[in-house]
Order: sequence, then structure tokens, then C-alpha cells
Amino acid sequence: MGIDIGSTTSKCVILSDGSEIVSASIILGGTGTSGQKTAVNEALANASLSIDAITYTVSTGYGRKSLAFANEDISELSCHTKGVHFLYPDVRTVIDIGGQDAKVMRIGKTGKMTNFVMNDKCAAGTGRFLDVMANILALNITDLESYAAQSKAPVSISNTCTVFAESEVISQLAGNAKLSDVIAGICNSVASRVSSLAKRIGIEEQVFFSGGVALNNGVRLALEKELNTKVLTSPLSQMMGALGAALYAYEKTDKI
Ligand code: ADP
Repeated sequence: MGIDIGSTTSKCVILSDGSEIVSASIILGGTGTSGQKTAVNEALANASLSIDAITYTVSTGYGRKSLAFANEDISELSCHTKGVHFLYPDVRTVIDIGGQDAKVMRIGKTGKMTNFVMNDKCAAGTGRFLDVMANILALNITDLESYAAQSKAPVSISNTCTVFAESEVISQLAGNAKLSDVIAGICNSVASRVSSLAKRIGIEEQVFFSGGVALNNGVRLALEKELNTKVLTSPLSQMMGALGAALYAYEKTDKI
């Protein structure tokens, strides 16, 4: 079992035979909440398993030290890299945008992480920025991509600070900017911040977008424009850390 206890969500993956995902869950509620327990219970219930059926558990993510029954905890960087390489062996650059940080990892042919760069100091360029903006616009986070897709002339959000950008968004709307153009500007702002981060270590194809923000196609398309390259994603994007953790757990079961 692999569990990724993030800043906003908890993800759990159960693997059998080191390759078959028998169950997976995503629960809103990350570290310090009951989300991690619910994610485990839901993944077990989906597969009609009890906890006794789990041979080895690896935790990862911001709250990885908080899971008492985990056999081991492994860093998010290692687990994300492992999960992505397992499903997409030709990927050489992973862009991960979660609820509280953004990371870019370079992967060698064998799946080893060769370099990384990270922003965990500032909400701009993370899911938090999008959550704050969705909140002031009274929208669900899932609504942003469809608004962004309607935009013909995205506004430019010039403030990099989330608090100032919030005021900027309000004044854009007060100045009669279209909601879709403002939301496209918000998605572009995240993509621009993370692209600058990625350029610090260089981009090599194929590029894969993981983390919860990868579910927002507006940000993915904006990343493609900024980086001038195709950016792949998958419905399992948010699960890559938990999948990598489960793969590490499986390697350990071989040795038991
Ligand atoms: P963490 O591991 O830090 O908890 P995640 O990788 O789970 O973070 O990503 C959480 C972020 O993903 C949220 O802050 C939110 O902005 C974004 N997100 C989550 N679900 C969706 C969705 N369905 N559509 C768009 N964005 C989403």
C-alpha cells in the first residue's frame, strides 16, 4: 500500500503483484485531518480487503511522518518520480503542482531522478493560488478549466503575490473584464511561475504534469505554450506519489 498524505488531499493506492492497481482513493483532507484514515479505509473497502491483507505500507507527502502504521516513509520527490516512470517510462521531466508546492524533476532513462527544483515557499504557482481565486470567485476548483477554455483574450495577472493578485482579480472584474478572461489569466499566472522554475533545470521531452492541478486543463495548455512543448497528463495524475509509494512497498515485500 502507498499513501500520499498531502497538504490538501490524501491518496491511497493498493497494488498486487507490483503492477496491478487493485484499488485507489482520493480524499479531500490532507495532513492533520482524518483524510488519511478515510483514504485507507476507502481503498481497502473498494477492493473488499482488510488491513491484514496489506504486507507493507509506504507513506509519502507532506504528512508522511504522521501515519503510525506505515512501515516506512519515503520523500515525495522519489515517490512521484517512481510512479510516473512506472506508467510513462519515456518521460524525462515531471512537473508536479500540488496544493501547497510545485516541483520539477528530471528523470534519467533508468528512472533515477537526476535533478529537481522546488517552490514550497510561496503560494503563487501552486494549487493554493487557484483555491484562493476559486474561493473569491465563488466557484468550484473544478469549474476553472471550462471558463479558461472560453477565453479569447486572457487578462494578465501581474502580481506574483497571492494576496495582491487577489485584489488585482477583484479590480479586473470591477473594471468589467470577462470572467473567462480573468480565469484564463489566473491559469496562465500559475503556468508562468512554474515554467520559470522548470527552466532553471531545463526541460527534456517527454514532459508529464502530475499533482491535483494537472486536472485543470487550462493550466496544462498554458504550460504547453510557456514551455513550447507537449505536456502529457493522465486521469491518475494526482495519484503518482501514492503509486510510487506502493511500488516501493512492493519492492520491500519481495524481501520479507
Ligand atoms: P497535495 O498532495 O499537496 O494535497 P494535490 O496534488 O492533491 O496536493 O493537489 C491539490 C490541488 O489540486 C488543490 O489545491 C486544487 O487546486 C487542485 N485540484 C484538485 N482537484 C482538482 C480538480 N478536479 N480540478 C482542478 N484542480 C484540482
